[in-house]
Amino acid sequence: MEHENVIKANEIIGGDVVKALNRRGFEAEYVPTGQDALKRILEIIPPDASVGIPGTVTVRDIGALDALKERGNIIYQHWGKMTPQEMREARFKENEADVFLTSANALTRDGEIINIDGTGNRVAGMAWGRGLVLFVIGINKLAFDLADGLKRAKAATIPNAVRQNVETACVKAGHCVNCLNDESMCRAILILNQAVKGRKYHVIIIGENFGY
Ligand code: SF4
Repeated sequence: MEHENVIKANEIIGGDVVKALNRRGFEAEYVPTGQDALKRILEIIPPDASVGIPGTVTVRDIGALDALKERGNIIYQHWGKMTPQEMREARFKENEADVFLTSANALTRDGEIINIDGTGNRVAGMAWGRGLVLFVIGINKLAFDLADGLKRAKAATIPNAVRQNVETACVKAGHCVNCLNDESMCRAILILNQAVKGRKYHVIIIGENFGY
């Protein structure tokens, strides 16, 4: 029963955020589960489209990368064992793809999409991707307002740094110390306040927790 209440509450909240995103010019929808999101991703992305997938745990955890690959979509990604030069080139290709498939660090209840980036490729793709920018965002990433969203986005840095084996100042301290050193992963902050002119966006909000 409690589980049913959570499902219902998430649906109400998700539906409200969809309306807020629409007001800002983003196409958006709410789906209850990661499985539903995967189904929608495969419907939205044409089978012959190239897909750029930056550093996102959500997209991989819902199985989208494997499913797209299996279906024959060309995938560009900088993930796994690559030389620094290969990583750099892959990042450019991701942003040039027909679809830029990503998650976000935070999404406010009022529809602002917040991301913090160390390399800049992810925020560049979100603001200036060549094709459709398709966001897939777990309900755990919802924030009340911009200040809450920025805190949420920064809090994701510790698990991201651990995943990438980077010893950031927050990994050492256990919390953000607003570092400005070589290891900082918070160099570019993008708040999508409205769908950027000339770009196409689609946001899928999932009623389950994904990523961090
Ligand atoms: S300590 Fe540095 S890298 Fe870590 S969250 Fe704060 S600004 Fe980002």
